[in-house]
Amino acid sequence: KAKEEGRNCIRFYSNSINDRALARFTLEADLRKALDEDGLEVYYQPQVDLRTGKATGMEALVRWNHPQRGFISPSDFIPVAEEAGLIDGLSRWVMHTACAQARAWSQQGAGEVRMAVNLSARQFYAGNLAHVVADVLASTGLPSRLLEVELTEGMVMKDPKVTLDALEALKGMGVSIAVDDFGTGYSSLAYLKKYPLDVLKIDRSFVRDIATDPDDAAIARAIIVMAKSLGMVVIGEGVETEQQLAFLRENGCDQAQGYLMARPASAGDAEKYLRGHLLITDHFRKQAVD
Ligand code: C2E
Ligand code: MG
Ligand code: MG
Ligand code: MG
Repeated sequence: KAKEEGRNCIRFYSNSINDRALARFTLEADLRKALDEDGLEVYYQPQVDLRTGKATGMEALVRWNHPQRGFISPSDFIPVAEEAGLIDGLSRWVMHTACAQARAWSQQGAGEVRMAVNLSARQFYAGNLAHVVADVLASTGLPSRLLEVELTEGMVMKDPKVTLDALEALKGMGVSIAVDDFGTGYSSLAYLKKYPLDVLKIDRSFVRDIATDPDDAAIARAIIVMAKSLGMVVIGEGVETEQQLAFLRENGCDQAQGYLMARPASAGDAEKYLRGHLLITDHFRKQAVD
C-alpha cells in the first residue's frame, strides 16, 4: 500500500515537473514570438526632483501583454529570457526603444529627458555592453549624458575586474550609472568607492515603512547621508504616500519615484505627464495646450 502511494506520489511529482517544463517551454516560445512580432512594450515611470517637483527623467520598464495570459511581470519573464538566450535581443530592443523615446521627447521641446534603463546580469557580463550602448546612442542620436544604466549590487559583485572595466567604459562614454534596489544585496560597501557610480536608488522595502518604522527611517537617512557624502545622487523608490515623500524631502533625498507621483505608463501617457511636470519649453507647452 505504502509502495503504491509512493509510486503515485512519484508519478504525480514527475507529472508536475513535466507540466512545469512544458509551461516553461511554451512561455519561451511565446516570448520569442512576442520579440519577433512587437508583442512587448516599454513603459515609463518619472523620477521627480524633490526640491522643484519637476520630472528629471524616466525609468524604462519593459511590459509583456501575453495574448492569452494577460500581463506578465518582467520579474517573471526576464529570467526566462536569460535562460532562453533571448535577453540580448530583448535588452537591446528596450534600450533602443527607450533612448529613441527620450530623444523624441527632448526634440519635441521637453528639455532634457534623462532615461534610465535596467541592465540584466547576462548583459553586463556579455563583454559587449559598451559596444551595444555606443551603438544605441549613435543610432538614436541620444546624447550619452541623458542615458543612465541601472544595475543591482549582485551584478556588480560577481566579478570585480569585469565590473570595473565595463563601468569605466560606460563612464568614459559619458553614460551615468545607478545602483538599483540599494541595501538589499549581501555586499560590502567597499564597491561604492571602487566603481564610478553616480546614483543610489534606495530600495522600496526601506521606503515602505519609512514614516512609521524607526529602523527603516534610520537606514534610509543613513543611505541618504552616505550617498551625498560620496557625491552621489540619491533616489527613493516605491513612494506611495505623502508621508513617505515628506520624509525623503525633509531628509535631503534628491529624487523620488513611485505610484504617488505616477505609475509606469505607456509612452503616450508618460508624455502627458511630462507636459505637466517637466521644465517645459514654450514649444512643448504650446503643444500641450493644443
Ligand atoms: P526595478 O528596476 O527596481 O523597477 C521598479 C519596480 O517597482 C517596477 O516594477 C515598478 O513598476 C515598481 N514600482 C514603481 N513604483 C512603485 C510603487 O510606488 N510601489 C510599488 N509597489 N511598486 C512600484 P516592474 O516594472 O514590475 O519591474 C520589476 C523589475 O523587473 C524591475 O525592478 C527590474 O529589475 C526588472 N526590469 C523591468 N524592466 C526591465 C528591463 O527592461 N530589463 C531588465 N533587465 N530588467 C527589467
Ligand atoms: Mg530599476
Ligand atoms: Mg529598484
Ligand atoms: Mg527590483
